[in-house]
Amino acid sequence: MFRKILVANRGEIAVRIIRAARRMGIATVAVHSDADRHALHVEMADESVALGGLSAAENYLAGDRIIAAALSTGAEAIHPGYGFLSENPEFAEAVEAAGLVFVGPSPSSIRAMGLKDTAKRLMERSGVPVVPGYHGDAQELVVLAGAAQKIGYPVLIKARAGGGGRGMRRVDRPEDFAAALMAAKREAQAAFGDGRVLVEKLIEKPRHIEVQVFGDRHGNIVHLFERDCSCQRRHQKVIEEAPAPGIGKAMRAAITEAAVRAARAVGYYGAGTVEFIADASRGLRPDAFWFMEMNTRLQVEHPVTEMITGIDLVEWQIRIAAGEALPLSQSEINLRGHAIEARIYAEDPERDFLPATGTLHHVRFPESIEGVKLRIDAGVREGDTVSPYYDPMIAKVIVHAGDRKTAIRGLKEALEQTRIAGCTTNTTFLHRLVANDEFAAGEVDTGLIARNQGKLTTVPSPSPHVIAQAALALSGISHTPDAQDPFDALTSYGHFHPVEHRGVLYHRDSPVRYWIRGIAGGRFEVRVETPDDAGGTAIFTFGASEVPPAARWLNHVTVFDRAESFTFSTRDFSVEDKGGASGSQIRAPMPGLVKLVRVAQREKVQEGQPLLVLEAMKMEHAIIAPRDGVIAHVVAEGVQVSDGTVLIQFEDG
Ligand code: ADP
Ligand code: ADP
Ligand code: MG
Repeated sequence: MFRKILVANRGEIAVRIIRAARRMGIATVAVHSDADRHALHVEMADESVALGGLSAAENYLAGDRIIAAALSTGAEAIHPGYGFLSENPEFAEAVEAAGLVFVGPSPSSIRAMGLKDTAKRLMERSGVPVVPGYHGDAQELVVLAGAAQKIGYPVLIKARAGGGGRGMRRVDRPEDFAAALMAAKREAQAAFGDGRVLVEKLIEKPRHIEVQVFGDRHGNIVHLFERDCSCQRRHQKVIEEAPAPGIGKAMRAAITEAAVRAARAVGYYGAGTVEFIADASRGLRPDAFWFMEMNTRLQVEHPVTEMITGIDLVEWQIRIAAGEALPLSQSEINLRGHAIEARIYAEDPERDFLPATGTLHHVRFPESIEGVKLRIDAGVREGDTVSPYYDPMIAKVIVHAGDRKTAIRGLKEALEQTRIAGCTTNTTFLHRLVANDEFAAGEVDTGLIARNQGKLTTVPSPSPHVIAQAALALSGISHTPDAQDPFDALTSYGHFHPVEHRGVLYHRDSPVRYWIRGIAGGRFEVRVETPDDAGGTAIFTFGASEVPPAARWLNHVTVFDRAESFTFSTRDFSVEDKGGASGSQIRAPMPGLVKLVRVAQREKVQEGQPLLVLEAMKMEHAIIAPRDGVIAHVVAEGVQVSDGTVLIQFEDG
């Protein structure tokens, strides 16, 4: 077995590989870009090598630098993870030429499956069913349009070098073919450096079912059952599960047999996935699925297979790379229960899933969920930033249970308890998707998300109750496990006087006023403005233990209300404490730079008057006088202050 391996990747998959290696007693070397200097995978590895640069071409795609890093640290093998160099045959060759082991299949297998057209031709010859279509070399319009006519519309034009769900175009009518072809070729050339395409029959109610295969260098090949990845958005997987809902014995036998046959055709070893498309218009049937492509690497969604088989796929990859035989034979591999994975992304479903960036100020995942086995694969921790340089996946939430229904229930609960603030995520969207009736019924064709897009992505306005919660959280009365006493912040303001706070919260730029008052029995009354024109208010009372989970970050507060989360900002700060001793102070609500001071010592100020401007996170925040008074002391312009620093001291009385 290897003593040391290098992990040529980042994020959750690098972390996951390092964990497996550690369990096996293998030392690990991480590589990283400048942006990832402090990343979790770097911290976790035994050693790390800085590759420099920000763009992937300079680091995670820089094969020669990675090989040099392996040689200089004495690593014996390189695990490429997924994405980046994982399916690059030249890299695999260069690794071997350097006397190292590539944890993956042979360069010739990668090459044989690398282009969708040649792979399909090979599969046809090997007796694997292939989506009807044209996979030839000719690229002229007449040939391709003729092929489309023969296949029958609608058709799909696909980049032969495509990946990651990109480079595909649906064409419904012959008269649209020429324009679509030109656009597809242009896109393919720009995205993959290869403008060649294939044309295939568009399956109208498709399900994506893939089979995990494994081979060793001794000629053995097994499958680890199927995964259903039909829950897709724009051809990208969102939720994956195993086994495929509604698959029968005959269908499973046929599809796994076809996958093993595909792997055998290319002398496959290591972990691989054979992707099929099934026509689900009349249910899953053994004669209605076709080979789409083979991914010659570990797949993002491999944990669902690990859950149902109890096999560590990364451990198997490493063993096979070291020359060992497959640890189990086909009959020893069993399927138990049902597993589902949801991919948490930094993106905004409401804004057409625009990738989001930002600092993950608050990150909480559940530790366990009753009745299911829970697994969280994350590549980030609280305080990390999601940068625009890489894939915006934050984590994968995976559950395993005895049956699909229980797994769905568990995943819903897990998503409700996944609390991330500071960066917009798709958590609520995922929760709604899992709660969707069609999903629950197992009707998971690739159009499900698009059909339900509105329902899945519309964000409701916060209710007055949620606003009241936000106001409380902002006052420091939040039910967070790290606060010693949730009442401290408010009650310490005055031991003898009733406490009162009031302020304004902004939700998407609309201001809402609130008032908080300590009442008898250690409870708090929160009054919030209601959005109607009548100027009405709603009143709620809370005890400390009833304050729901919320996160305060910078000048924001995020309230988690089951799977929904609502973020408010307090653009201006004005905390009032009538009569209490500390009502004479204004503290910095966040760390920042005192940009501008507008008042001087001894100056008389009026409620609502801007006192100073604090700059934080490239934004300016005005600090407003909470009441009339005289300034006893004011912080100096230009100083850097930390959270809680006294900015203004009022003269008492
Ligand atoms: P999976 O089935 O594992 O989800 P995907 O095709 O979605 O496979 O891709 C897995 C990873 O590889 C993702 O991070 C994706 O962004 C990346 N990827 C796949 N193909 C390409 C490509 N041609 N260029 C760049 N990244 C790719
Ligand atoms: P990629 O390399 O980008 O993963 P695939 O060939 O695996 O490309 O296709 C990605 C997705 O596109 C599939 O999971 C499926 O949802 C959809 N798709 C691919 N081929 C077809 C087809 N012939 N008909 C309908 N949908 C298809
Ligand atoms: Mg694919």
